[in-house]
Amino acid sequence: MTTTTTPTPFAGGTVLGYPRIGRRRELKKAVEAFWAGTTSADELEATAAQIRLATLRRLVELGLDPTDGSVPGSFSYYDQVLDASALLGAVPTRFASLVGADDAPAGDALSLAGYFTVARGQGDRAPLEMTKWFDTNYHYLVPEIGPDTAFSLASDRVVREFVEARDAGVVTRPVVVGPVTYLLLAKAADDAPAGFSPLSRLEDVVPVYVELLRRLAAEGAPWVQLDEPILTSDSIDVPVAEALAAVTTAYGALTTAPVGAGRPAILVATPFGGLATQDADALSTLAATDVEGVALDLVKGSLPDAATYPGLAGKTVVAGVVDGHNVWRADLAAKLDVLDGLAALGAGALAVGTSTSLQHVPHDVDDETYAATSAEASGTTLDPRLREWLAFADQKVVEVATLARGLAQGRAAVTAEVDAATAAVTSRATAAGVVVPAVRERAAALTEADFTRAAYAERAAAQQAALDLPPLPTTTIGSFPQTPEIRRARALNARGALADADYAQQMQDEIRRVVALQEEIGLDVLVHGEPERNDMVQYFAELLDGFAVTANGWVQSYGSRCVRPPILWGDVARPAPMTVEWSAFTASLTDKPVKGMLTGPVTILAWSFVRDDQPLGDTANQVGLALRDELADLEAAGIGIIQVDEPALRELLPLRQADHAAYLDWSVRSFRLATSGVRTETQVHTHLCYSEFGEVIGAIDGLDADVTSVEAARSRMEIVPELRDAGYSRGIGPGVYDIHSPRVPSVEEQTELLALAVGSIDPRVVWANPDCGLKTRRYEETVPSLENLVAATRAVRATL
Ligand code: GLN
Ligand code: ZN
Repeated sequence: MTTTTTPTPFAGGTVLGYPRIGRRRELKKAVEAFWAGTTSADELEATAAQIRLATLRRLVELGLDPTDGSVPGSFSYYDQVLDASALLGAVPTRFASLVGADDAPAGDALSLAGYFTVARGQGDRAPLEMTKWFDTNYHYLVPEIGPDTAFSLASDRVVREFVEARDAGVVTRPVVVGPVTYLLLAKAADDAPAGFSPLSRLEDVVPVYVELLRRLAAEGAPWVQLDEPILTSDSIDVPVAEALAAVTTAYGALTTAPVGAGRPAILVATPFGGLATQDADALSTLAATDVEGVALDLVKGSLPDAATYPGLAGKTVVAGVVDGHNVWRADLAAKLDVLDGLAALGAGALAVGTSTSLQHVPHDVDDETYAATSAEASGTTLDPRLREWLAFADQKVVEVATLARGLAQGRAAVTAEVDAATAAVTSRATAAGVVVPAVRERAAALTEADFTRAAYAERAAAQQAALDLPPLPTTTIGSFPQTPEIRRARALNARGALADADYAQQMQDEIRRVVALQEEIGLDVLVHGEPERNDMVQYFAELLDGFAVTANGWVQSYGSRCVRPPILWGDVARPAPMTVEWSAFTASLTDKPVKGMLTGPVTILAWSFVRDDQPLGDTANQVGLALRDELADLEAAGIGIIQVDEPALRELLPLRQADHAAYLDWSVRSFRLATSGVRTETQVHTHLCYSEFGEVIGAIDGLDADVTSVEAARSRMEIVPELRDAGYSRGIGPGVYDIHSPRVPSVEEQTELLALAVGSIDPRVVWANPDCGLKTRRYEETVPSLENLVAATRAVRATL
């Protein structure tokens, strides 16, 4: 067995990765300037190098050891999985002409421009598909692997960045997606034969990693981190046993060379969950390999009780006790207890780490402004208590360093820090706003009746009588294009340069235009177009008690795109109606039915940082109750149709199959709580998108919405028979207009799709609508596309 070259690795603690976008989104701005052609590749490289060096300096300043590989080298221009594809030369054949570009940096097959082209597509060459990275809101680019994909070390950026850091005085630990996760996240290339599994290429991929490791060792890298989060999931394309066999094969080959001359020591990181399931224990598999370290997620995952792993005797375990995926300050005393409990594991050495990369949290709580008192908090001027309760990336690095000192020198060495953390955790647990007795009492008094509406047949009859809609009613999903004028008005209003009344006036004018346009086009159920919403979650977070919104709390969503998730810190309540004025104003402009528009509890949770001190289901019910009041007020204002969007329903599905049922139960119940207080004749819609719905088909039915609109154009309506076969029999609006592209779908195309839907389910339940909201589209595309949708609907109606 190989042993580690350093006696106590990462003794000062380590983190599995750090945000790359820059504290003020400098990388985003530099990358977008390069795309726009206003800066050169060299200028972009220079900016990126500055960001990397600033990160190294910061991590060392915060307490990480600059000499032993404790500082992760986790930079990426766009995405770490795309980086692995570039490293392996796994570029789809449609981009083959980009490989070997003259302007590529020495050591790379792709130029920077080529790398971005693979990410973003060009002309009719589609980009790599993008999908969610485990249970985070980060999205990676899906590799496309076929039997003929030629693997070679096609980029040595990882090595160059190691050298750059080393020469600046910091010996980093390069971070690369591991071979098993890489192949299991890949999809079969378009030209691959049916049944081809990318994992079958493992033995061709591993030699490239071997070569990379050799190169890193030659430059003096003591450690490399290979990320294998796939080991925490059993929702994968192959049996778990096959994935574990791949781990044995891959890490057997990767550890053949001796540490030092032949390769760095290997740390396998397994973020996002535990490693043990009913039928397999991935930690046993890893322990049986000759890797030198394993990083465990001890926030989401736990270890089997008092389990001992003899194979860990010569290995370092990085105990991921500091949450890399949420924003709460750690209870350091409790974390020290967890570390004590790990003695039973039998690891050769124990180090303190984060559960995941810190790329999923913002940089620094000190980048926010705080009011002097809680009462004065407003907008992005935060409640001062949050300064004590939150920990963003930089605070987490300090927590790791503190715990590492406690581990090495005993608790007495960190008494002051532990006491401060305990005080913060204690104050938060009972603070006003965190616990609101009225909210708790209302939730405690709920009965089954609060989750249940009248039978659907009764509702359907009452709704038809009230609404008198034609067959195949036409509608849209809510938003209309967010024009530059709307964005400008919102920015001015936020800066105080446009008075609230003038802003509201401008939004009302926009609604007037959108209503007139919908009448002209001939749609049956109108919307107000959502011009007043900056974002479908943030809008509500700003109006509900219990949420905070930050000024600089950016996290990368994908590529250069960043989001500022709201922070759900307290009990949720609705101090005042949130949407009623806008919807009532809209209804006053037309005789057609107007659809109110809300975001559902699951989606609000999914796109926020959520409190970690109570079950998610309890938090979801609080949001559900606030929305329930909003539906009641909309109904009282004469709004007869209300849509509650849940595009994130599939997103929050846990990584482990065993956890699915509990999740689907609380998520469905929170939606029902939100929507079941309305009258029988009020029609409740929901909208789902962004995912494959296979695993949540039953849950969609469980939502009990009167009408469900779903993304369906690209998959040619396949969801319709799936829902039918699952017993779904209420209204369904499968999208016939793919809004994800600027293309205008013709009448014929939309007719064909609608006819497909009508042919596979009772035509009386079918609605005609686009796939999703129109906010990212321009009017030039939207108007003809919707005109074609109405024409298509008329054509299909004539056949009924
Ligand atoms: N009502 C929202 C809109 O139209 C729904 C957006 C979504 O599903 N992501 O923009
Ligand atoms: Zn959508």
